[in-house]
Amino acid sequence: MRIGFIGLGNMGGPMAANLLKAGFDLSVFDLSHTAVQAAVAQGAKAVSSPAELARADVEVIITMLPAAAHVKQVFLGDDGLLANVQPGVLLIDSSTIDPHSARDVSAAAKAHGNPMLDAPVSGGTGGAAAGTLTFMVGGEAADFERARPVLAAMGKNIVHCGGAGNGQVAKVANNLLLGISMIGVAEAMSLGVKLGMDAEVLAGIINTSSGRCWSSEVNNPLTGAPAARGYSGGFGTDLMLKDLGLASEAARQARQPVLLGALAQQLFQTFSNQGNGQLDFSAIVKLYQEG
Ligand code: NAD
Repeated sequence: MRIGFIGLGNMGGPMAANLLKAGFDLSVFDLSHTAVQAAVAQGAKAVSSPAELARADVEVIITMLPAAAHVKQVFLGDDGLLANVQPGVLLIDSSTIDPHSARDVSAAAKAHGNPMLDAPVSGGTGGAAAGTLTFMVGGEAADFERARPVLAAMGKNIVHCGGAGNGQVAKVANNLLLGISMIGVAEAMSLGVKLGMDAEVLAGIINTSSGRCWSSEVNNPLTGAPAARGYSGGFGTDLMLKDLGLASEAARQARQPVLLGALAQQLFQTFSNQGNGQLDFSAIVKLYQEG
């Protein structure tokens, strides 16, 4: 199958590499020449714009871009995909964007005669490299089945979440909970340590008790892997802040209160403004520590 791929960053680069390893014929575009060269070295063909990619003889086009503004530009711009692509080509956007924008772009694609799926991922750069991402997919069931073998080359769990935009809904809901739970664990761990407990012992108790969650067990803010390496790498505070912003905007549009989400967003914003945007989001525990 011939595939086009736009957005070869921290996630898209390794995802494209896995498509090449699986034997797909891949044409790629990115604004970064270095990113394109890395993909070409692994066997991809370079094209010079989204328009050229759209006019290439591809059956599927995947995008992995930073945010909704980039997705709208690449899909809806004068020199973008929809203005140039043949009807019938399957479009898959794996960027994390708000559900409303995903539904708008999907409707525009449908009007042009192109099936479209929103397919955001979880699993981070490690999952992208290992080909073990979870894909949360919104769109028509038949289009999901058409995409499945392509997504299976990049991910392990591939879940159809419902109609257009529902992949982004699942992603936003999960990361809203993740941001809140991380702050809850940071608060509880800080209190326990301040009251005299050893962090490892306390983490062990929580992780065999009812407070257990991913934030306490896998990414504990005091005893987890990012903490042990000075909170470098991992899932950056600014990426969590982006996802909480998406949740809060989606909630505003749906008139759905997200009280703890709003507080979590403000805490991560404060922490980022203190110069910590690149640290793993579990470093939010520093807000609870003195000095
Ligand atoms: P990134 O910034 O590393 O990569 C984005 C790439 O898109 C860059 O190479 C950039 O040059 C390219 N790009 C930007 N605008 C473009 C345009 N108009 N045309 C062509 N290329 C363009 O970002 P990333 O970490 O790979 O994340 C991509 C998406 O995946 C984001 O929506 C992010 O929220 C989501 N995501 C990231 C992670 C993670 O751990 N990094 C995890 C899950 C989801």
